[in-house]
Amino acid sequence: MSANLLSRFLRYVQIDTQSNESSDTFPSTPGQSVLLELLRQELSELGAADVQMTKHGYVTARIPANTRKTRVPTVAFFAHVDTAPDCSGKGVKPIVHRKYDGRVLTFPDNPTLTLDPATSPELRTAVGKDIVTASGTTLLGSDDKSGVAVIMTLVERLLHETKRKHGEIRICFNPDEEIGRGMDKLDLRMLGADVAYTLDGGAPGEICWETFSGDAAEVIIEGITTHTMEARAKGMVNAAYLAGKLLAALPRERCAPETTEGRDGFIHPIEMEGRTERAIVKFILRDFELKGLAEKGNMLQGLCRGLQASEPRARIRCKIRKQYRNMAYWLRKDMRPVELAREAFLAAGLKPYDHVARGGTDGSRLTELGLPTPNLFCGEYNPHGPLEWTAVQDMESAVIACDHLGGLWERKG
Ligand SMILES: [Zn+2]
Repeated sequence: MSANLLSRFLRYVQIDTQSNESSDTFPSTPGQSVLLELLRQELSELGAADVQMTKHGYVTARIPANTRKTRVPTVAFFAHVDTAPDCSGKGVKPIVHRKYDGRVLTFPDNPTLTLDPATSPELRTAVGKDIVTASGTTLLGSDDKSGVAVIMTLVERLLHETKRKHGEIRICFNPDEEIGRGMDKLDLRMLGADVAYTLDGGAPGEICWETFSGDAAEVIIEGITTHTMEARAKGMVNAAYLAGKLLAALPRERCAPETTEGRDGFIHPIEMEGRTERAIVKFILRDFELKGLAEKGNMLQGLCRGLQASEPRARIRCKIRKQYRNMAYWLRKDMRPVELAREAFLAAGLKPYDHVARGGTDGSRLTELGLPTPNLFCGEYNPHGPLEWTAVQDMESAVIACDHLGGLWERKG
């Protein structure tokens, strides 16, 4: 299994699939369609049923049930093909370090960069494994091509290797997760799944069924512009200055991503542009609980009202829009998807552990839309940067765990 798994992974990471938030096409970049088309072909060659690519680029397939039992829930496995806009994914040169010996790794294309177990402690768990890094100037793309390679290898295993009984299984590869659009154009009825898992996580045993809830806010400040020579006489109101005042008023010490951890939420300015006439500041608001999220929205609106009161000639608006919700609100009502995943990990010889994600996943959206979708490990480490790496044996563990998971839904679902 490991040779096919590794060669798949190496093939996928060499295709540049970086997504782009400022694009309005779907998928946002053409490279994603190249990989999606390749996956469509490979799924057909493996013998999967009903292999399709929708006009928005989603590649879906079906593994028919091999059980005579009826009413077995249909399980779907998801992975996203895009890589993060934060770091280049062009010309990725993957390097395989066979039987990693625990040393500090260097990168041929960037001599100042090192991957060190002292600062990346998860490397210590990888001693003896075959690990893969990039060459120093790009990310690797293990997020989420590890998930893609795991699912493709699972398809091969289910169709040609294991004899384990399972119900209907659905596969879905999607674009644009990293820019928050991954589920925007998916027809869930067409997919027809009862429960799903995204393969987009870290170390073996990790399961994530709790994520942030997220809102986005936009503050628009309109000032009054005049020539500076008569600014005082004509009553200039500088919107850029007011935007600075708003940022300075935020309680940054207890409410920013760089000053919080664990279960604390935050208000985070992600983008601003400002001139005298008009300034716009965009924020993301995050909290695990809806109450905390609402408090953060209220706080921002309160600061805007205060700013407005301090300068009545300006016009200040604060618009808040919903992004995604903590999947735990739905999963707590029926924990079977989580419990069976834990059981599958144990059956695969792994120790399950919960990971609470300070972020959202495609599964946050899917779960809210009625398809419960926890996230499972697939061997992603240091994502979104040049120090990203993965271990072949960790991806293999994910394949084995998902094979068990299909069997458990057949027996117990
Ligand atoms: Zn991901």
